[in-house]
Amino acid sequence: MKVLKMLDLNQAVQIPQRHAFGIEASAPKLSSDEASSENCEPPSSPLAFRKQFYPKLSKKDWNSWQWQLSNRITDIGELERFFPLTASEKAAAAESRLPFAVTPYYISLMNRADVRDPLRRCMVPSAEELVISRGEAADPLAESRHEAAPRLIHRYPDRALLLATDFCSAYCRYCTRSRLVGQDEQGSLEEALEYIRVHTEIRDVLVSGGDPLTLADCALERILSALRVIPHVEIIRIGTKVPMVLPQRITASLVKILKRYHPLFISIHTAHPQEITPEAKTALERLAGGGIPLGSQTVLLKGVNDSVAVMKNLMHKLLMARVRPYYLYQCDPVKGTSHFRTSVAAGLEIIANLRGFTSGYAVPTFVVDAPGGGGKIPIQANNICGESEGDLFLMNYEGNIFKYPQVI
Ligand SMILES: *Cc1c(COP(=O)(O)O)cnc(C)c1O
Repeated sequence: MKVLKMLDLNQAVQIPQRHAFGIEASAPKLSSDEASSENCEPPSSPLAFRKQFYPKLSKKDWNSWQWQLSNRITDIGELERFFPLTASEKAAAAESRLPFAVTPYYISLMNRADVRDPLRRCMVPSAEELVISRGEAADPLAESRHEAAPRLIHRYPDRALLLATDFCSAYCRYCTRSRLVGQDEQGSLEEALEYIRVHTEIRDVLVSGGDPLTLADCALERILSALRVIPHVEIIRIGTKVPMVLPQRITASLVKILKRYHPLFISIHTAHPQEITPEAKTALERLAGGGIPLGSQTVLLKGVNDSVAVMKNLMHKLLMARVRPYYLYQCDPVKGTSHFRTSVAAGLEIIANLRGFTSGYAVPTFVVDAPGGGGKIPIQANNICGESEGDLFLMNYEGNIFKYPQVI
């Protein structure tokens, strides 16, 4: 990498503005007042919601994941039972190509009076998704090209991604696998498992989908046990949004099963602090209590979480629920997602406002999953400002510059 030569820089020079090579990342810090003005709390209690919309339903049924699944709203028009649709949402309802589904529980977390509610934006189609923009593709990460066996993506040397199911309890509008999900294909995983068995370099299998935690206990256990008996598979990971959209699924008996397949890690897809409810926290506590290290994955989404205040709040809430922020993703250029996509600089700015200003544990790695299948590329502002006779000039989180004397 080319390093800028800088002259006459004394230690701790106050510079007026943050900068990074090639990228103007001027990041005016938000004051804590601004930060706290963002309302991130769920609008009403699930109890009030249940009483209003399902008056005859028992608490037990509401808290049953099977009830939540079988009572998913799968027709956009049906949403009008809960809130009036906008013209844009109605237009999308007629033409959307992506599957639509959302659990009653997740609807109860939306502020029904706010057409721009972040969770609504994540789940309810709008006319904007009918717009196809430059560079968008059905399969931007070229996963089909790295499909080593049906439902197995082998992109990195030592780890593979197993698509255990194409079913989700709720479909995010920005889904990176919108080309595959919700088609109800029940293909066999046997070929994928056989590929892993003979490829001894695979030491890490990521079970994703669709959402693997929507599988019945016995179906999930079949997959986990088949992986666990493969001697070279060191760790198993599950990618899921279930604790956010269907926390009732995290039962004691599920955790008992998961615990049998350690070392097992879980990455939780989360978008907004409004998702971190008492129900979600209970689910996460249960998983963590089962000795499962929990990480998070968040897609940077315009109008949902593209502010320092919201992102910081989300990261803090995750840590308190024992989830270590793992990845912040630049939104993939999936067809019809331009309304969700921010600039990469917006993500850099959020990270720059977290690093140093809050716990290092609260700072995820910001990555672009390279279009064309290059894998995840971490993006960070360059903190190396220059070099002179072995001295390296480094910028700290406040924008001050410090000299590090290298051994030559
Ligand atoms: C993200 C991903 C992985 C896992 O990547 P890590 O950086 O190890 O978390 C593996 N395979 C594919 C295809 C992926 O997209």
